[in-house]
This record gives sequence, structure tokens and C-alpha cells, in this order.
Amino acid sequence: MDHVFYRNVNKNYMEVQYGEGIYLYDTDGNRYMDACSGAAVSNLGHAHPRILAAMAEQAGKVAFSHLSRWTSGSIKELAALVGELAPGTLNKLYLVSGGSEATEAALKMARQYYLERDGKSSKYKIISRWKSFHGNTIGALSMTGDKRRKKYGPLLLDFPHIAPAYCYRCPFGKNQDSCSVECALDLERALKMEGADNVAAFIAESVGGAACGAIVPHKEYFKIIRQICDHYDILYIDDEVMAGFGRTGTMFSIADWGVVPDMICVAKGMSAGYSPIGGVVVKDEIHAAFKQGSGVFVHGHTYGGNPLSAAVSVAVVKTLIEENLVENSRLVGEYLLGKLQEKLLPYWFVGDVRGKGLMLGVELVKDKDTKEPFQVALGMAEKLTAALIKHSVIVYPGTGSADGENGDHILLAPPLTLTIEQADELVAAMADGFAEFEKRIAF
Ligand code: PLP
Repeated sequence: MDHVFYRNVNKNYMEVQYGEGIYLYDTDGNRYMDACSGAAVSNLGHAHPRILAAMAEQAGKVAFSHLSRWTSGSIKELAALVGELAPGTLNKLYLVSGGSEATEAALKMARQYYLERDGKSSKYKIISRWKSFHGNTIGALSMTGDKRRKKYGPLLLDFPHIAPAYCYRCPFGKNQDSCSVECALDLERALKMEGADNVAAFIAESVGGAACGAIVPHKEYFKIIRQICDHYDILYIDDEVMAGFGRTGTMFSIADWGVVPDMICVAKGMSAGYSPIGGVVVKDEIHAAFKQGSGVFVHGHTYGGNPLSAAVSVAVVKTLIEENLVENSRLVGEYLLGKLQEKLLPYWFVGDVRGKGLMLGVELVKDKDTKEPFQVALGMAEKLTAALIKHSVIVYPGTGSADGENGDHILLAPPLTLTIEQADELVAAMADGFAEFEKRIAF
């Protein structure tokens, strides 16, 4: 009898035996291409010898020391490394153990920042977007803008949401030619309505992941967001839990928009899944406000800043740099996107194939012309994922919204080590899986 309380209590889970490079093996010896790196996590693939060695070395010295009393060589090295790679004056790293902890910490840090800076503050609201995902804890879920919110209300009140930057289904009915980036200007509308004096921050994923399947905002989008945040004196939090550390072809994804946020939330690729870690990369000015103010950020989690995860993360980041994997993500990602568009867009049920670097999404539709989504109850993304597993490829499914405002999607996020030959292998398996799926869903 299995005593595990699984997330989906009625599902039969595959049992993993081991991983090697971009492949995972089940307990029957079957091999699968891990084309989503779990959930865009295993960016170096599985069992990378350099990371295993770093892990063993640090574990042999000290695995845990509590951040309330101790610092360590590995957390100092990691913070210096990340500070060097992050844009602008984002030179300070606050450590936690995962993505939701990172966005929760950013939320509290934004609120406390204004108290520290101004002595008193009414700024407490955080504005986010629909079709976003910022984590599953209640604060993170309050900022999230998708179906995951449904069963857990009431969530934190006064967390307003603005329109998503969703060009394939523009919420303002515009197209490429008529677009004036209304989705970015929607932040100003919300600020006027909420009163900027009540708003601490705006949070957005640079490239949208779990809630929408690799949506890439317009090239001017974050420039406008930055200007609005500056004008109304609110912080801009860039959630790169999924997109950061090379996933979209730059070390930090926001580099492609040439914009410097006030905080960047990171996790996942930061340790490539070898040990749980997350963090908030913070601008010097914010850190200085805490230093000159009360001196204490009233927050913390037991495992935040443990020496083992930090040493693993240092080894991961150095490997990304030394093995040129960020550039590889960009180049192989461009190649893979082109091939997937060529092979998959002809299918009547494929509405869009999009993304950046090795963060790619395929959106499924019932009607290509009208972009009408499939009914949620049909579970098309799950069914397609099951069909692809038969062809030895694992992707990450996302179900469409019940409001009919977006379709099902699958997310592809293979390890950043992916070669052109492996990309071809992936495309061939996807093409076979899609062909079989098409036969099965003939209405
Ligand atoms: N933020 C983003 C953009 C994410 O993609 C995720 C997870 O998918 C999270 C936050 C939450 O991270 P975690 O699952 O590590 O709590």
C-alpha cells in the first residue's frame, strides 16, 4: 500500500529510478526525454558530475547552519556571484527555499520597505496580472491570476489584477499593427483606481509560465511598466522563478527588455533542482532603507540560506557560465521554436507555438480561426501529455481557464544542455505524438 498523499489523489504516478543528462528512467527501465525539466527546474539535466561533487564536498563540511546566527562561505559566494550577474544595483540576495517563499518574501519586503523608508506608510497593496502564477502559498496565490485561486478564497484582500500581456488573445482586441501596449498602460489605470498611496508594488513574470504557456510580452512592455512604477513610486518586482538563470536565453530574462527591476524573485534553475533554494535579488537602495531603518526584515524560513543549497547553487551558476549554457539556451531555443512551429502549427487544434530561449509553449484550440478554447472538462492538455509520454517525451501540461479566456497549453522547457541533435529527436517524437493525438480526438 502506498502511503503518499499525492497532489492528484486519483492519478497513477510514474516511478522514477534515476536520471542521466536530459533523460529520466522509470523503474521498468523505460527512458523518457525530460522535455520540461520537471517544471522548468532541471536546467543542467540529471546527475551532472560537477554538481554532485560540489554537493558532496559541502555536505562533508557542513550541510546546515541557521541563518539567524551564521553566515557561510557558500552563501557569501552565491550572493556575490548573483549580484555580479544581476542588472543595475541589484546587489543583495535574500535567501529562501523555493519560488513561493521568494514571492512571499518580496511581498513582505515591499510593504516593509516603505515603512523603513518613510517612517510610516499606507502602501500595502500588490498589483499583479491575470494569467499569472506566483506560487501556492496564500500570499503568493493572492498575487497569482489563474484557476489555482478558486478553491482557497477568500484570499488576501486588495490584491488587484490587471490585464495580461497576452498578444495571441489581446485583451484589448488589438493586433500587432494597432497595438499601443494597452496591457502595460492598464497598470496606470489600476493605480489611479486603487490610489498609488495604497500600493507597494507591481509583480509580473518576465515570460509567463505555468498559468499561460510561455507568453512573451511586447518589446516595449516592461519599459512602460518601469516608467509607471517610477512615476507613481511603487516597486517593480520581476518574478523570474521560472524564467531566470538562462531559461529564456539570457541569465536574467528581463535583460531582453533592457529594464532594471527593483527586485527579482528566483528559484528553480538557481540550483537546477539539485537542492531546494530560492531568493530575492534586491536593489541596494532597498537594502539601505532597512539598514538605516529598523535594521531587521521581520521574516525568515528555517532552511533559507542553508550552506548546502548555496554551494550547489554556486556550482550550478558557474557551470551555466563555463559550459556556455545560457547562449546554448538562446540558440537551440530559436532552432527548436522554428522546428516546432513548422511541424505543429499545421494541426487544426494548435493555435500558437511561442516562447523565448528554451521556455516554449503550445496553445491548443478547438477552432483556429476564432481561437475558441476546448472545454476545460475535456482535459486536452493532459490527454496530449499522455500521448507524448507514449512517445517517450515528458512535457508540462496547463489546463485552459473555465472562463474560456485561454486554451489548454503544454510547456516545453528542456535542460539548457539540449543539443541540436536532441532538439531534432524531441521534434520527431512530438510530431509522432501529435499525429497520434489527432487521430484520437477526431470529433
Ligand atoms: N513564480 C513562478 C513564476 C513560478 O513559475 C513558480 C512555480 O512554478 C513559482 C513562483 C512558485 O515556485 P515554487 O513552486 O518553487 O513554490
